[in-house]
Amino acid sequence: MSRNAESTAFRSALEVIRAVEPRVADAIGAELTDQRESLKLIASENYASPATLLAMGNWFSDKYAEGTVGRRFYAGCQNVDTVEALAAEHARELFGAAHAYVQPHSGIDANLVAFWAVLADRVESPALKKAQVRQVNDLTEADWFALRRELGNQRMLGMSLDAGGHLTHGFRPNISGKMFDQRSYGTDPATGLIDYDRVAEAAREFKPLILVGGYSAYPRKVNFRILREIADSVGATFMVDMAHFAGLVAGKVFTGDFDPVPHAHIVTTTTHKSLRGPRGGMVLCQPELADQVDRGCPMVLGGPLPHVMAAKAVALAEARRPNFADYAQRIVDNAQALAEGLLRRGAKLVTGGTDNHLVLIDVSGYGLTGRQAEQALLDSGIVTNRNSVPQDPNGAWYTSGIRIGTPALTTRGLGTAEMDQTAELIHTVLTQTTAGANADGTPSKAKYNLDPALADKVARQATDLLAPHPLYPAIDLA
Ligand SMILES: *Cc1c(COP(=O)(O)O)cnc(C)c1O
Repeated sequence: MSRNAESTAFRSALEVIRAVEPRVADAIGAELTDQRESLKLIASENYASPATLLAMGNWFSDKYAEGTVGRRFYAGCQNVDTVEALAAEHARELFGAAHAYVQPHSGIDANLVAFWAVLADRVESPALKKAQVRQVNDLTEADWFALRRELGNQRMLGMSLDAGGHLTHGFRPNISGKMFDQRSYGTDPATGLIDYDRVAEAAREFKPLILVGGYSAYPRKVNFRILREIADSVGATFMVDMAHFAGLVAGKVFTGDFDPVPHAHIVTTTTHKSLRGPRGGMVLCQPELADQVDRGCPMVLGGPLPHVMAAKAVALAEARRPNFADYAQRIVDNAQALAEGLLRRGAKLVTGGTDNHLVLIDVSGYGLTGRQAEQALLDSGIVTNRNSVPQDPNGAWYTSGIRIGTPALTTRGLGTAEMDQTAELIHTVLTQTTAGANADGTPSKAKYNLDPALADKVARQATDLLAPHPLYPAIDLA
C-alpha cells in the first residue's frame, strides 16, 4: 500500500462530507490540527491507526444485527457475522480468553453486561429465569417485585474512587451504585499501595457477590492472583475492569499474577485506551458465563455497531503483531522516565512512581488544587486531567491531583528523553503558577495566576517537542 493511500482516503472522505455540510468537514479537519499540536497526556486517550478509523466509515453502520454470530434477529447479517467473529477470535487469541463478546459500545456498557451476567448466573430467582427465557411479557407484578428485591441488595466490593477506582464499580453517579450495596477498599495511607490483607478482611466481613479489580488512576501493578484467592475464599465472582491497561496486557507487559485474564471469571475493557482501537468496549469471560454475557444485547445494550466491530477486528489484528509488544513496553518505559523526571525536580507522586502507563502528581506539593494545575497546564499547551488522590482533602471536583499517561505520546513516537523534557515543562508551569483569591480575598480553589508570556513560551516548547514526531505522518489534508 502506498503511503499516499491514507491521504487520498481521508481527503476524499472530507470532500464528500463537505458537499453536504461543510462545517462538519471543517470541524473534522480542525480536530486533526488540534490533536497534532497538543501534548496529549490524558491517560485514557490514544490515536487509532488509519486502518482502524477507516473501517468505521462505511455501510456496516446501516445494518441491524441484534443477536450473536449465526443467531440474528435480522436477516442478511452474513458480513456482520464475518467481522464480529473475526473480532472475537482476535480477542480470544490475543488475551488467551475462552470467550469474547465484542458488542459493547463503551467500557461502561461492558460493565453493565458483566454485572447482569453475574447476577443472572448467581442469583436464584424464578422470576429471573422467566426473564432469561425471553418471557419478559409474562412477568407479573409480583414477579417484577421479586426481581427488584432479589437483584437489588446484592453486594459489590471494589476499589474506592479516590484510590483510583471507577464510577462503574458501585458508585452513586452510575447505576451500579444504585443496584448494588457497595463497599470499597482503599490503599495504604503510608505507601499508596493496595493492602491485600485489608481487602481480604473487607471481603470476609462484607461477603460480596462480586469482587471488582481494576482502576482508572492507580499507577501500580495489581496482583490478580491474590485478588482471585480472596474472591474464592468468600465465594465471590471475581471481575476485572482492565479498561485502562488492556494494551499492557495485550502487549505482555503484564503477565503471570498481573495478567487478569487467567485469574478473573470475567474481564471487561474499553478498546480505545491503551489498546489503541476504536471507541468501544468488550467482555472476556470463562465458558460458564458465556451464555449470559452473549445476552448483553438486547438485555442492557442497544443494537450492535457493526462498523465499530469491524474496526475492533482491525485494531485487535494490529495488537497481535509483534511490534505491539514493543509499543506496550515503551508506554511503561516512558511513564517511568516521566515519573523519574518529575521526582528529580521535586514533584510529589502518589506511590512515589509508576509501573504502568500513568503517573499521578499530588499537586498540593505545588500549593495548587488539581483544577488550578489542570487549567495552568492547558494554557501552556499541555493536556492532562485533574484527579483525586487518596483521601483527597479537595473532593472529587477540585481534587489535589493531576493524572498523566503516556499511551498517546508513545504512539507518536516520543521516547524517554522527550519524557524528561516533558517533566521539565510540567514542573516549570506548576512552580510558576500560584493559587488565586476570590473577590472577597478568601483563597480560591479554581482561580490561579500564571504569567501568559511563560504559558506561551512553554506551549511553543511543547510544539517543538512534538515537531519531530508528526501525528498521522502520511495524512496530508491540505
Ligand atoms: C474509562 C473507563 C471506563 C468507561 O469507559 P467508557 O468507554 O468511557 O464508557 C470503565 N472502567 C474503567 C476502569 C475505565 O477506566
